[in-house]
Amino acid sequence: MSGVGKGVAVASIAKILQSKGYNVTAIKIDPYINVDAGTMNPVEHGEVFVTHNGMECDQDLGNYERFLNQNILAMNYMTTGSVYKSVIDKERNLEYKGKCVEVVPHIPEEVIRRIEKAGENEKADIVIIEIGGTAGEYQNVLFLEAARMMHLKRPEAVLFILVSFLPIPNKIGEMKTKPTQYAVRTLNSAGIQPDFILCRSARPLDSRRKAKISTFCNIGEEDVISAPDVESIYDIPVNFEKDDLGKKILKKLGLRVKKTNMQDWKKMAHGMKNCTKNKEIKIGIIGKYFKTGDFILTDSYVSVIEAVKHAAWANKRRAKIEWINSDEFEEDEKSVGKLKNYDGIIVPGGFGARGVEGKILAIQYARENNIPFFGLCLGMQMAVIEFARNVCKLENANSTEINPKTKYPVIDFIPQQKEQIKNKNYGGTMRLGACKCRLNKGTISRKAYKQDIIEERHRHRYEFNNDFKDVLEEHGLTIAGVNPDQNLVEIIEIKNHPFFVGVQFHPEFLSRPLHAHPLFRVFVKACIKK
Ligand code: GLN
Repeated sequence: MSGVGKGVAVASIAKILQSKGYNVTAIKIDPYINVDAGTMNPVEHGEVFVTHNGMECDQDLGNYERFLNQNILAMNYMTTGSVYKSVIDKERNLEYKGKCVEVVPHIPEEVIRRIEKAGENEKADIVIIEIGGTAGEYQNVLFLEAARMMHLKRPEAVLFILVSFLPIPNKIGEMKTKPTQYAVRTLNSAGIQPDFILCRSARPLDSRRKAKISTFCNIGEEDVISAPDVESIYDIPVNFEKDDLGKKILKKLGLRVKKTNMQDWKKMAHGMKNCTKNKEIKIGIIGKYFKTGDFILTDSYVSVIEAVKHAAWANKRRAKIEWINSDEFEEDEKSVGKLKNYDGIIVPGGFGARGVEGKILAIQYARENNIPFFGLCLGMQMAVIEFARNVCKLENANSTEINPKTKYPVIDFIPQQKEQIKNKNYGGTMRLGACKCRLNKGTISRKAYKQDIIEERHRHRYEFNNDFKDVLEEHGLTIAGVNPDQNLVEIIEIKNHPFFVGVQFHPEFLSRPLHAHPLFRVFVKACIKK
């Protein structure tokens, strides 16, 4: 079931197997028709994560990267749409040599080909594949079929793990195993018998239910693993280890434990969990992708949240993150004054006109009241607009994304992007993936990174307009980083402020729990000082 923690479970299993001396990689399969995640609204599907080589993909790849502390590339992501697209392209190129191309076996075969290729590419000893969706739904049947075929070919090398949700209905107060029993039956009818069942629930599994699942799901009791809710996701590998899950998986694969190397991770996980005793810093994230019906969803900004947590932990603090809907400031401009209660604010990425004026008001408040401000992608663009309007007095300056007719297009697209938009070529055509940035001496950014050239991941169509570079600089805006190949402004800062930095890229994608991102770390430091 989506949202039950499959991604984190996969990342955690990958982590423990890695810690036992194996080269591990993870693949995510999303069963929708979208060719990638780039065309989806984050409220629909959570954050769109971007790989180093520019794939717009599911946020779970972010978890894999953070847990494994290694880059996961585009090859490790597929959707129904991308699989069908390559099968159809091959058919058009006569690669099936006149055969009738059919859903089965050609689609599962393409899935298997991609899995094997990704494993080879990473020189992985073990590949963990996450099949999205829910057992029994129509969408992922062909992926289960691919899994079954892989197992048939090499039963000793393929094993199955079911992540199942065990509800505890409020009125009854008892944990229910029936949905798990049905999930296993559904898998059985697809020719798959799970080797392990990870039991996700609000509470730990008791021995009674363990026995029940064992009997009814045809699985040894020791392979029924309790996976209760935890305060910090970084605890999950540690909890799995308490059940010896890593050892059990290796045994079934006929592999031995080569070493045990979880000390740093355990220390970090323990520290993050216990940082409730640390002093708190209060950070406001000003965005718009929070609401889904009557519920608040923070999934849209998961990498930003994790990056803040990593940086807080690196500074021995606990981050209290609050969500602020930027529409709020548009409805009542004075309400922006509530930002004085925050130690720092972040304006993350986003698309379209809704809520941007509220973000601009918030940035103005942070600039004028010395509140540490960190702008990510759209956040940087809004900071440039705010500065142009209120400091340079370029009235109604804007981004052409928001107002194509603005007199002062301080943010605009570069010519290649104009072509893409004209041809309605939206999918996968933004500036995507890692690009170089040269840092200028004497800036906050140069001091934070301690390097002249850095690489960061991008996902945007619009850019700082160099036609306005002189006027903005004359009024005190600092250009702290520039892309050396295309002469594009990547970082802006202002002086005489505790921390005012806007970046055109997404630094949050590179933050790892054991290696907090330098800019987030320095931002948090400034928040502490405030
Ligand atoms: N909408 C902006 C652009 O396309 C910013 C994108 C983002 O924040 N990722 O340039």
